[in-house]
Amino acid sequence: MDVDNHAEELASALGVDKEEVKEDLENLLQYSVPIDEAKQSVRRKHGGGGGGDATPESLDLADLTTEHDNVTVTVRVLTKGTRSIRYQGEDITIREGEFADETGTVSYTAWQEFGFEPGDTVTVGNAGVREWEGHPELNLGDSTSVALESEELEVPNEIGGERELIELEPGDRGRTVEVSVVEVEERTIDGRDGETEILSGVIGDETGRLPFTDWDPHPEIETGESVRLEDVYVREYRGAPSVNVSAFSTVESLDEPVTVTDTAPSMSIGEAVTAGGLFDVELSGNVIEVRDGSGLIQRCPECNRAIQNGECRSHGDVEGVDDLRTKAILDDGTGTCTVILGRELTEGIYGGDLDDAREAAREAMDREVVAEEIAAALVGDAYSARGSLSVDEYGANLNADAFEPVDEDPETAARDLLAELGVGA
Ligand SMILES: [Zn+2]
Repeated sequence: MDVDNHAEELASALGVDKEEVKEDLENLLQYSVPIDEAKQSVRRKHGGGGGGDATPESLDLADLTTEHDNVTVTVRVLTKGTRSIRYQGEDITIREGEFADETGTVSYTAWQEFGFEPGDTVTVGNAGVREWEGHPELNLGDSTSVALESEELEVPNEIGGERELIELEPGDRGRTVEVSVVEVEERTIDGRDGETEILSGVIGDETGRLPFTDWDPHPEIETGESVRLEDVYVREYRGAPSVNVSAFSTVESLDEPVTVTDTAPSMSIGEAVTAGGLFDVELSGNVIEVRDGSGLIQRCPECNRAIQNGECRSHGDVEGVDDLRTKAILDDGTGTCTVILGRELTEGIYGGDLDDAREAAREAMDREVVAEEIAAALVGDAYSARGSLSVDEYGANLNADAFEPVDEDPETAARDLLAELGVGA
Protein backbone atom coordinates (compact mmCIF):
# COMPACT_ATOMS: atom_id res chain seq x y z
CA MET A 1 0.00 0.00 0.00
CA ASP A 2 1.39 3.42 -0.84
CA VAL A 3 0.78 6.67 1.06
CA ASP A 4 -2.00 7.60 -1.32
CA ASN A 5 -3.98 4.44 -0.55
CA HIS A 6 -3.39 4.80 3.18
CA ALA A 7 -4.55 8.42 3.03
CA GLU A 8 -7.67 7.51 1.07
CA GLU A 9 -8.58 4.72 3.47
CA LEU A 10 -8.01 6.93 6.52
CA ALA A 11 -9.82 9.90 5.03
CA SER A 12 -12.93 7.88 4.27
CA ALA A 13 -12.87 6.23 7.72
CA LEU A 14 -12.53 9.61 9.43
CA GLY A 15 -14.74 11.54 7.02
CA VAL A 16 -12.14 14.22 6.38
CA ASP A 17 -10.32 15.62 3.35
CA LYS A 18 -7.88 13.16 1.77
CA GLU A 19 -5.25 15.77 0.87
CA GLU A 20 -5.07 16.96 4.47
CA VAL A 21 -4.62 13.42 5.74
CA LYS A 22 -1.99 12.71 3.12
CA GLU A 23 0.02 15.79 4.06
CA ASP A 24 -0.03 14.79 7.75
CA LEU A 25 1.04 11.26 6.88
CA GLU A 26 3.88 12.34 4.61
CA ASN A 27 5.11 14.67 7.30
CA LEU A 28 5.39 11.84 9.80
CA LEU A 29 6.86 9.36 7.32
CA GLN A 30 9.62 11.86 6.58
CA TYR A 31 10.78 11.29 10.15
CA SER A 32 10.80 7.52 9.66
CA VAL A 33 7.71 6.99 11.80
CA PRO A 34 6.35 3.51 10.95
CA ILE A 35 3.22 3.78 8.78
CA ASP A 36 0.77 2.38 11.31
CA GLU A 37 2.11 4.64 14.08
CA ALA A 38 1.74 7.55 11.68
CA LYS A 39 -1.83 6.55 10.82
CA GLN A 40 -2.71 6.35 14.50
CA SER A 41 -1.40 9.85 15.14
CA VAL A 42 -3.42 11.20 12.24
CA ARG A 43 -6.46 9.28 13.45
CA ARG A 44 -6.07 10.75 16.94
CA LYS A 45 -5.66 14.25 15.52
CA HIS A 46 -9.00 13.93 13.76
CA GLY A 47 -10.74 12.50 16.79
CA GLY A 48 -10.83 8.90 15.60
CA GLY A 49 -10.35 6.05 18.08
CA GLY A 50 -7.06 4.25 18.55
CA GLY A 51 -8.47 1.01 17.22
CA GLY A 52 -7.96 -0.48 13.79
CA ASP A 53 -9.81 0.92 10.85
CA ALA A 54 -10.13 -2.33 8.98
CA THR A 55 -11.31 -5.77 9.97
CA PRO A 56 -8.14 -7.57 11.06
CA GLU A 57 -7.06 -10.31 8.70
CA SER A 58 -6.08 -13.60 10.25
CA LEU A 59 -3.43 -15.34 8.24
CA ASP A 60 -0.51 -17.74 8.02
CA LEU A 61 2.95 -16.19 8.26
CA ALA A 62 3.84 -17.65 4.84
CA ASP A 63 1.13 -15.46 3.32
CA LEU A 64 2.26 -12.28 5.08
CA THR A 65 3.56 -9.61 2.70
CA THR A 66 4.58 -5.98 2.96
CA GLU A 67 1.28 -5.20 1.19
CA HIS A 68 -0.62 -6.05 4.37
CA ASP A 69 -1.64 -3.32 6.76
CA ASN A 70 -3.13 -4.72 9.98
CA VAL A 71 -3.07 -8.44 10.63
CA THR A 72 -4.01 -11.03 13.22
CA VAL A 73 -1.75 -14.06 13.60
CA THR A 74 -1.48 -17.00 15.99
CA VAL A 75 2.18 -17.72 16.64
CA ARG A 76 4.77 -19.26 18.92
CA VAL A 77 7.24 -16.77 20.44
CA LEU A 78 10.75 -17.92 19.46
CA THR A 79 12.86 -15.12 20.89
CA LYS A 80 12.51 -11.85 22.75
CA GLY A 81 15.21 -9.22 23.17
CA THR A 82 15.07 -5.90 24.98
CA ARG A 83 16.71 -2.74 23.76
CA SER A 84 16.50 0.98 24.37
CA ILE A 85 16.20 3.28 21.39
CA ARG A 86 15.87 7.02 21.05
CA TYR A 87 12.66 7.72 19.20
CA GLN A 88 11.55 11.30 18.50
CA GLY A 89 13.86 12.57 21.26
CA GLU A 90 12.64 10.08 23.86
CA ASP A 91 14.23 6.89 25.20
CA ILE A 92 11.89 3.99 24.61
CA THR A 93 12.37 0.39 25.67
CA ILE A 94 11.39 -1.93 22.86
CA ARG A 95 11.20 -5.73 22.61
CA GLU A 96 12.26 -7.45 19.44
CA GLY A 97 12.47 -11.02 18.26
CA GLU A 98 10.88 -13.68 16.09
CA PHE A 99 7.52 -15.38 15.94
CA ALA A 100 6.83 -18.63 14.10
CA ASP A 101 3.86 -20.68 13.00
CA GLU A 102 3.76 -23.94 10.98
CA THR A 103 4.30 -21.98 7.76
CA GLY A 104 7.16 -19.61 8.54
CA THR A 105 8.75 -16.98 10.76
CA VAL A 106 8.54 -13.21 11.10
CA SER A 107 10.45 -10.58 13.08
CA TYR A 108 8.56 -8.28 15.41
CA THR A 109 9.06 -5.06 17.31
CA ALA A 110 6.86 -4.42 20.37
CA TRP A 111 6.65 -0.80 21.54
CA GLN A 112 5.41 -1.83 24.97
CA GLU A 113 5.70 -4.86 27.27
CA PHE A 114 2.97 -7.37 26.37
CA GLY A 115 4.23 -9.94 28.85
CA PHE A 116 4.86 -12.86 26.47
CA GLU A 117 8.02 -14.95 26.70
CA PRO A 118 9.82 -17.37 24.35
CA GLY A 119 7.82 -20.61 24.14
CA ASP A 120 4.43 -18.93 24.61
CA THR A 121 1.71 -19.40 22.01
CA VAL A 122 -0.15 -16.14 21.45
CA THR A 123 -2.72 -14.59 19.17
CA VAL A 124 -1.56 -11.15 18.15
CA GLY A 125 -4.45 -8.98 17.00
CA ASN A 126 -4.25 -5.85 14.89
CA ALA A 127 -0.48 -5.83 14.48
CA GLY A 128 0.92 -3.35 11.99
CA VAL A 129 3.03 -4.57 9.09
CA ARG A 130 6.08 -2.66 7.98
CA GLU A 131 8.83 -3.37 5.56
CA TRP A 132 12.34 -4.01 6.81
CA GLU A 133 15.00 -4.71 4.18
CA GLY A 134 12.37 -6.04 1.80
CA HIS A 135 10.70 -8.35 4.34
CA PRO A 136 7.48 -7.82 6.29
CA GLU A 137 7.93 -7.19 10.00
CA LEU A 138 5.24 -6.99 12.67
CA ASN A 139 4.83 -3.84 14.67
CA LEU A 140 3.03 -4.26 18.01
CA GLY A 141 1.76 -0.87 19.20
CA ASP A 142 -1.02 0.78 21.17
CA SER A 143 -3.78 -0.74 19.09
CA THR A 144 -2.36 -4.29 19.20
CA SER A 145 -3.83 -6.97 21.44
CA VAL A 146 -1.97 -10.07 22.60
CA ALA A 147 -3.85 -13.07 23.99
CA LEU A 148 -2.12 -16.11 25.49
CA GLU A 149 -3.37 -19.37 23.94
CA SER A 150 -3.69 -22.47 26.12
CA GLU A 151 -3.01 -24.84 23.24
CA GLU A 152 0.64 -24.99 22.24
CA LEU A 153 1.40 -24.37 18.56
CA GLU A 154 3.89 -26.91 17.18
CA VAL A 155 6.62 -25.21 15.13
CA PRO A 156 9.74 -26.67 13.49
CA ASN A 157 11.95 -23.86 14.85
CA GLU A 158 14.29 -23.75 17.82
CA ILE A 159 12.70 -21.93 20.74
CA GLY A 160 14.83 -19.52 22.76
CA GLY A 161 17.86 -17.48 21.80
CA GLU A 162 20.73 -19.85 22.67
CA ARG A 163 23.24 -19.93 19.83
CA GLU A 164 26.87 -20.61 19.03
CA LEU A 165 28.93 -17.68 17.75
CA ILE A 166 29.15 -19.05 14.20
CA GLU A 167 25.34 -18.99 13.97
CA LEU A 168 24.99 -15.27 14.77
CA GLU A 169 23.99 -12.86 12.02
CA PRO A 170 23.56 -9.07 11.92
CA GLY A 171 19.99 -8.23 12.90
CA ASP A 172 19.66 -11.06 15.45
CA ARG A 173 18.06 -10.01 18.72
CA GLY A 174 17.48 -11.66 22.06
CA ARG A 175 20.41 -14.07 21.68
CA THR A 176 22.18 -15.95 24.45
CA VAL A 177 25.80 -17.12 24.10
CA GLU A 178 28.34 -18.81 26.38
CA VAL A 179 31.79 -17.48 25.59
CA SER A 180 35.28 -16.84 26.80
CA VAL A 181 36.52 -13.24 26.78
CA VAL A 182 39.59 -13.32 24.50
CA GLU A 183 40.46 -9.65 24.98
CA VAL A 184 38.71 -6.59 26.36
CA GLU A 185 39.54 -2.91 26.77
CA GLU A 186 37.79 0.04 28.37
CA ARG A 187 37.02 2.90 26.05
CA THR A 188 35.45 6.31 26.39
CA ILE A 189 33.19 7.29 23.54
CA ASP A 190 31.20 10.36 22.69
CA GLY A 191 27.77 8.80 22.95
CA ARG A 192 24.29 10.26 22.59
CA ASP A 193 24.44 11.32 26.27
CA GLY A 194 27.98 12.71 26.19
CA GLU A 195 31.08 10.82 27.29
CA THR A 196 30.31 7.21 28.07
CA GLU A 197 32.49 4.33 29.27
CA ILE A 198 32.11 1.16 27.26
CA LEU A 199 33.93 -2.17 26.93
CA SER A 200 34.99 -3.57 23.61
CA GLY A 201 36.99 -6.59 22.56
CA VAL A 202 36.76 -10.12 21.26
CA ILE A 203 34.80 -13.13 22.54
CA GLY A 204 35.16 -16.72 21.40
CA ASP A 205 33.68 -20.19 21.70
CA GLU A 206 34.35 -23.56 20.08
CA THR A 207 32.89 -22.34 16.77
CA GLY A 208 34.63 -19.00 16.29
CA ARG A 209 35.46 -15.51 17.51
CA LEU A 210 33.53 -12.25 17.21
CA PRO A 211 34.04 -8.64 18.26
CA PHE A 212 31.75 -7.32 20.99
CA THR A 213 30.74 -4.08 22.67
CA ASP A 214 29.31 -3.77 26.17
CA TRP A 215 27.39 -0.48 26.35
CA ASP A 216 26.80 -0.83 30.09
CA PRO A 217 30.10 -2.27 31.40
CA HIS A 218 29.57 -5.50 33.34
CA PRO A 219 32.39 -6.32 35.82
CA GLU A 220 32.17 -10.06 34.96
CA ILE A 221 33.54 -9.31 31.50
CA GLU A 222 37.30 -9.66 31.97
CA THR A 223 40.03 -11.12 29.78
CA GLY A 224 40.23 -14.89 30.21
CA GLU A 225 36.88 -15.18 32.00
CA SER A 226 34.06 -17.39 30.74
CA VAL A 227 30.61 -15.83 30.80
CA ARG A 228 27.02 -16.45 29.78
CA LEU A 229 25.60 -13.41 27.97
CA GLU A 230 21.81 -13.38 27.93
CA ASP A 231 19.74 -11.09 25.74
CA VAL A 232 22.38 -9.66 23.44
CA TYR A 233 21.80 -8.35 19.91
CA VAL A 234 23.93 -8.52 16.80
CA ARG A 235 24.91 -5.66 14.53
CA GLU A 236 27.09 -5.41 11.50
CA TYR A 237 30.53 -3.95 12.06
CA ARG A 238 32.80 -3.58 9.03
CA GLY A 239 30.76 -6.19 7.23
CA ALA A 240 30.97 -8.81 10.00
CA PRO A 241 28.63 -9.63 12.91
CA SER A 242 29.35 -7.87 16.21
CA VAL A 243 27.79 -8.83 19.56
CA ASN A 244 26.19 -6.02 21.60
CA VAL A 245 25.71 -6.31 25.36
CA SER A 246 23.36 -3.72 26.90
CA ALA A 247 21.87 -2.66 30.21
CA PHE A 248 19.11 -5.22 29.53
CA SER A 249 21.56 -8.11 29.10
CA THR A 250 22.26 -10.54 31.92
CA VAL A 251 25.92 -11.42 32.39
CA GLU A 252 26.82 -14.42 34.52
CA SER A 253 30.26 -15.90 35.28
CA LEU A 254 30.64 -19.57 34.35
CA ASP A 255 32.56 -22.06 36.49
CA GLU A 256 33.22 -24.32 33.54
CA PRO A 257 35.61 -22.52 31.16
CA VAL A 258 34.53 -22.17 27.51
CA THR A 259 37.14 -23.42 25.04
CA VAL A 260 37.97 -21.06 22.22
CA THR A 261 38.83 -22.53 18.84
CA ASP A 262 42.41 -22.03 17.61
CA THR A 263 41.46 -22.21 13.98
CA ALA A 264 39.31 -19.99 11.86
CA PRO A 265 36.54 -21.55 9.80
CA SER A 266 37.88 -22.32 6.35
CA MET A 267 35.63 -21.73 3.34
CA SER A 268 35.67 -20.98 -0.35
CA ILE A 269 36.17 -17.33 -1.34
CA GLY A 270 32.81 -17.30 -3.13
CA GLU A 271 31.04 -18.58 -0.02
CA ALA A 272 32.83 -16.10 2.27
CA VAL A 273 32.09 -13.12 0.03
CA THR A 274 28.43 -14.13 -0.19
CA ALA A 275 28.32 -14.27 3.62
CA GLY A 276 28.99 -10.52 3.44
CA GLY A 277 31.91 -10.35 5.86
CA LEU A 278 33.52 -12.52 8.52
CA PHE A 279 35.53 -11.50 11.55
CA ASP A 280 37.93 -14.45 11.44
CA VAL A 281 38.15 -16.72 8.41
CA GLU A 282 40.70 -18.74 6.46
CA LEU A 283 40.75 -18.44 2.66
CA SER A 284 43.03 -20.22 0.21
CA GLY A 285 43.72 -19.70 -3.46
CA ASN A 286 46.24 -18.59 -6.04
CA VAL A 287 47.71 -15.11 -6.06
CA ILE A 288 46.83 -13.83 -9.53
CA GLU A 289 48.01 -10.25 -9.16
CA VAL A 290 49.69 -7.80 -6.81
CA ARG A 291 47.72 -4.57 -6.92
CA ASP A 292 48.81 -0.92 -7.08
CA GLY A 293 49.47 0.48 -3.64
CA SER A 294 51.76 -2.43 -2.73
CA GLY A 295 55.43 -2.42 -1.83
CA LEU A 296 57.13 0.71 -0.50
CA ILE A 297 54.21 3.04 0.18
CA GLN A 298 53.74 6.30 2.09
CA ARG A 299 51.20 7.02 4.79
CA CYS A 300 49.72 10.25 6.11
CA PRO A 301 51.32 11.14 9.49
CA GLU A 302 47.91 12.40 10.72
CA CYS A 303 45.49 9.60 9.79
CA ASN A 304 47.82 6.78 8.75
CA ARG A 305 46.01 6.30 5.43
CA ALA A 306 48.08 5.42 2.37
CA ILE A 307 48.79 8.53 0.30
CA GLN A 308 49.88 9.19 -3.26
CA ASN A 309 52.28 11.91 -4.44
CA GLY A 310 52.51 13.33 -0.92
CA GLU A 311 48.82 14.17 -0.78
CA CYS A 312 46.27 12.85 1.74
CA ARG A 313 42.60 12.93 0.78
CA SER A 314 41.74 14.43 4.17
CA HIS A 315 44.87 16.37 5.12
CA GLY A 316 46.23 17.70 1.82
CA ASP A 317 50.00 18.04 1.37
CA VAL A 318 51.77 16.09 4.09
CA GLU A 319 55.22 14.70 4.81
CA GLY A 320 54.60 11.02 4.03
CA VAL A 321 55.86 8.23 6.29
CA ASP A 322 57.33 5.16 4.58
CA ASP A 323 55.74 1.77 5.14
CA LEU A 324 55.55 -1.65 3.52
CA ARG A 325 52.27 -3.22 2.46
CA THR A 326 50.99 -5.85 0.05
CA LYS A 327 47.59 -6.03 -1.64
CA ALA A 328 47.40 -9.41 -3.32
CA ILE A 329 44.42 -10.73 -5.27
CA LEU A 330 43.59 -14.29 -4.22
CA ASP A 331 41.48 -16.45 -6.55
CA ASP A 332 40.20 -19.97 -5.83
CA GLY A 333 37.88 -20.38 -8.81
CA THR A 334 34.76 -19.53 -6.78
CA GLY A 335 35.66 -15.88 -6.28
CA THR A 336 38.40 -13.36 -5.61
CA CYS A 337 39.37 -11.13 -2.75
CA THR A 338 42.16 -8.68 -2.01
CA VAL A 339 44.39 -9.87 0.82
CA ILE A 340 46.02 -6.96 2.64
CA LEU A 341 49.31 -7.74 4.35
CA GLY A 342 50.84 -5.29 6.81
CA ARG A 343 54.52 -4.48 7.21
CA GLU A 344 55.58 -7.59 9.10
CA LEU A 345 54.03 -10.11 6.70
CA THR A 346 55.23 -8.07 3.72
CA GLU A 347 58.81 -8.09 5.07
CA GLY A 348 58.64 -11.87 5.20
CA ILE A 349 57.69 -12.10 1.54
CA TYR A 350 60.06 -9.37 0.40
CA GLY A 351 62.92 -10.90 2.35
CA GLY A 352 64.01 -7.59 3.84
CA ASP A 353 62.88 -4.77 6.11
CA LEU A 354 61.86 -1.18 5.47
CA ASP A 355 65.50 0.02 5.31
CA ASP A 356 66.37 -2.67 2.75
CA ALA A 357 63.37 -1.60 0.66
CA ARG A 358 64.39 2.09 0.83
CA GLU A 359 67.93 1.14 -0.18
CA ALA A 360 66.69 -0.92 -3.15
CA ALA A 361 64.42 1.93 -4.27
CA ARG A 362 67.32 4.42 -4.05
CA GLU A 363 69.61 2.19 -6.07
CA ALA A 364 67.02 1.61 -8.79
CA MET A 365 65.81 5.21 -8.51
CA ASP A 366 62.33 3.73 -8.56
CA ARG A 367 60.14 2.83 -5.57
CA GLU A 368 58.19 0.38 -7.75
CA VAL A 369 61.04 -2.16 -7.64
CA VAL A 370 59.86 -3.26 -4.20
CA ALA A 371 56.34 -4.06 -5.42
CA GLU A 372 57.82 -5.82 -8.45
CA GLU A 373 59.93 -8.02 -6.19
CA ILE A 374 56.91 -8.90 -4.06
CA ALA A 375 54.83 -9.71 -7.15
CA ALA A 376 57.60 -11.96 -8.46
CA ALA A 377 57.54 -13.89 -5.18
CA LEU A 378 53.76 -14.29 -4.95
CA VAL A 379 52.03 -14.36 -8.33
CA GLY A 380 51.15 -17.82 -9.56
CA ASP A 381 51.58 -19.54 -6.20
CA ALA A 382 48.96 -20.88 -3.79
CA TYR A 383 48.54 -19.25 -0.36
CA SER A 384 46.27 -19.47 2.61
CA ALA A 385 45.34 -16.27 4.45
CA ARG A 386 43.62 -15.85 7.80
CA GLY A 387 42.03 -12.66 9.02
CA SER A 388 39.01 -10.43 8.97
CA LEU A 389 37.00 -10.18 5.74
CA SER A 390 34.94 -7.14 4.83
CA VAL A 391 32.82 -6.78 1.72
CA ASP A 392 31.55 -3.58 0.16
CA GLU A 393 30.52 -2.36 -3.29
CA TYR A 394 34.19 -2.15 -4.34
CA GLY A 395 34.94 -5.76 -3.52
CA ALA A 396 36.15 -8.01 -0.74
CA ASN A 397 39.18 -7.27 1.45
CA LEU A 398 40.83 -9.63 3.87
CA ASN A 399 43.01 -7.96 6.51
CA ALA A 400 45.42 -10.80 7.12
CA ASP A 401 46.95 -11.79 10.47
CA ALA A 402 48.58 -14.83 8.88
CA PHE A 403 49.63 -15.64 5.32
CA GLU A 404 51.32 -18.90 4.36
CA PRO A 405 52.15 -20.85 1.23
CA VAL A 406 50.07 -24.00 0.78
CA ASP A 407 50.46 -27.00 -1.45
CA GLU A 408 48.77 -26.44 -4.74
CA ASP A 409 45.11 -27.33 -4.59
CA PRO A 410 44.56 -30.98 -5.57
CA GLU A 411 42.53 -30.17 -8.67
CA THR A 412 45.22 -27.96 -10.21
CA ALA A 413 47.91 -30.45 -9.22
CA ALA A 414 45.97 -33.25 -10.92
CA ARG A 415 45.48 -31.20 -14.06
CA ASP A 416 49.23 -30.40 -14.20
CA LEU A 417 50.09 -34.04 -13.74
CA LEU A 418 47.72 -35.14 -16.51
CA ALA A 419 49.22 -32.53 -18.81
CA GLU A 420 52.70 -33.80 -17.99
CA LEU A 421 51.64 -37.35 -18.81
CA GLY A 422 50.30 -36.13 -22.14
CA VAL A 423 46.69 -36.88 -21.26
CA GLY A 424 44.33 -34.18 -22.56
CA ALA A 425 43.13 -31.88 -19.78
ZN1 LIG B 1 45.51 12.09 6.42
